[in-house]
Amino acid sequence: MSDAISLSHALARGFAMKCPNCGRGHLFGRFLKVVDHCEVCGEDYTPQRADDFPAYLVIVIVGHLTVPVILWIETDYSPPVWLQLAVYLPFVLFASLALLQPVKGAVVGMQWALRMHGFDENAPADIPPV
Ligand SMILES: [Zn+2]
Repeated sequence: MSDAISLSHALARGFAMKCPNCGRGHLFGRFLKVVDHCEVCGEDYTPQRADDFPAYLVIVIVGHLTVPVILWIETDYSPPVWLQLAVYLPFVLFASLALLQPVKGAVVGMQWALRMHGFDENAPADIPPV
């Protein structure tokens, strides 16, 4: 069943924080805690190893959104530093928190679609469990 689901579809379902396999079950039990099994289709998500990759992606995304705007505003308007900090720091904080769970869902969806780590049921037996 998982062979019929494309990588882009699994990424989109993961980004929507839904099960990459069925698209209906919730992928997260808590903020960044991936469920062990999908409540709808029973897909096992214990083999996921997202680790720090979602955080790195969020840093890249938020950085690429904010740094050009900050540079443009600074060179064209030069607002006071306190005003810049009052605007940029909350934006970066909330944008990072808002993106972290969807990006982690997309990473888990990618690992699942590409049969990475323990998602590969044909993995050699000599690979030790993580
Ligand atoms: Zn499911």
